[in-house]
Amino acid sequence: MSILVRNAGRLVTCDPALGEGPLGVIEEGALVAVDTVITWVGRERDVAAPPGAIEIDAGGRAVLPGLVDCHTHLVFDGDRAAEFAARARGEDYRTGGIMTTVRATRKASDGELCRLAAERLDRFLSLGVTTVEAKTGYGLTPAEELRLLRLTGSLDHFVDVVPTLLAAHVVPEEFAADPEPYVDQVCEEVIPAARGKARFCDVWCDDRGAFSVEQARRVLEAGAQAGLGLKVHAEQLSRSGGAMLAAELGATSADHLEQATEEDADALARAGTMGVLLPGASMMTGAPFAPARMLIERGVRVALSTDFNPGTSYSENLQLAVALGCGLLRMTVEEAVLGVTRHAAAAVGREDTCGRLAPGLACDVLVLESRSEADLAYHYGVNLARAVLKKGEVVV
Ligand SMILES: [Zn+2]
Repeated sequence: MSILVRNAGRLVTCDPALGEGPLGVIEEGALVAVDTVITWVGRERDVAAPPGAIEIDAGGRAVLPGLVDCHTHLVFDGDRAAEFAARARGEDYRTGGIMTTVRATRKASDGELCRLAAERLDRFLSLGVTTVEAKTGYGLTPAEELRLLRLTGSLDHFVDVVPTLLAAHVVPEEFAADPEPYVDQVCEEVIPAARGKARFCDVWCDDRGAFSVEQARRVLEAGAQAGLGLKVHAEQLSRSGGAMLAAELGATSADHLEQATEEDADALARAGTMGVLLPGASMMTGAPFAPARMLIERGVRVALSTDFNPGTSYSENLQLAVALGCGLLRMTVEEAVLGVTRHAAAAVGREDTCGRLAPGLACDVLVLESRSEADLAYHYGVNLARAVLKKGEVVV
C-alpha cells in the first residue's frame, strides 16, 4: 500500500538537510510512503507517485511529523483535583502528593489502568501525538513497579509507547525515615527484572522528597548495567546535582532543569545529553520556568513535553507546550517545533524512526488546520490537528 500526501503549503520536514531553514521547510511539498515508511519528500511538481497510491490532499496546509511527547507519567489511577484546588488557594506544591496517586494506583486493577491509559492515548492522538514516552513510578514497590512496566508494555494503541522505569520516583512513605533499603530494592530487584522491558531507567534526583545524587547514581548505574538508557528528573525544586550526574553518566536526557546553572548547561552540552523542558508543570505550580535561552545558547539540544501527570501537569496537549515554549520560555517557533518533533524523538532514542519527515522514517504525519506551523504557538490552546497518519494509516 502506498500513500501520497500532496498539496502541502508547507511540508515541515524538521530536517534542515531536506528544505529551508532549521525546520527544513519545503513549500508546495509532497510526501510519498510505501507501506509504513516514507520513501520520498520534495516539491509537488517533482513527485512521481506510485500507481494506486492513496491520495491525501492537504489543501495548502502545513504538514509536520507526528508529534513526540518525550516525558509523560501515563499509567495511574485517581485524580488530585482537590490538591490542585488547594494549590490554587496558595498552598505550596509538595512531593508528598504523589503518594495519593500511588495509593489509588496500587488499588486499581490491570484492566482499569489499561483502560485509563488508552483513553489518555486517544487524547494524545487526537492532538497529533504519535509517539509517547511513559514512565512507571506510581507503584513504588518492586511488584507494583514491575506490574506498571508490564501494563505499559502491553498497551496496544496507534500511539507508540516508549516504556521508562521510574521506580525511584519519590521515596515511598514506608521508607521515609531511611530510603536506602528502598534504593537497594530498586537496584537489586526491580531494575534487573526490567531488562528488555523498559527502554529507559529514570530517577528523580532532588534534595526535597526525592533521591540524593549518590542514591541516583546507584540507580542509574544499575540501569546502565541492565542495558537501559538513562534519564534524570534534574534541578526541578532545587539545584541538587542531577544534571551534572546525567552528563557524567552519558544520560540520554536531563528533564525539568528549572534550577539549572551555566555549569550544568556546559556539562549537558559536552555530554550530548538532551534537555527536556516542561513549561506546563511550572505554569500550573507557580514554579520558576527553565532557563531555555541560556541552555540553548550554551549548546544544549532542547526538547519540550507536557510532563503529563495527575499532580502538576494534567494535560495531553503537546501543541500547548509549543505555545508555552514560545510564550514563557522565550524559544523561537523553530526551536519549539523541533522540541516536539526531532529533538523529542532524540530524547526517547527514536531519532532514526520518527520526529522528521524523511525517507526511511515511519510515515507518522500531522496535517494542521492552518497554513503555518507557527500557529501551534500563535493560535494557542486549540487543537490544530486536522488529520493524523500513523505508520501510513489515517487514524484521525
Ligand atoms: Zn516527570
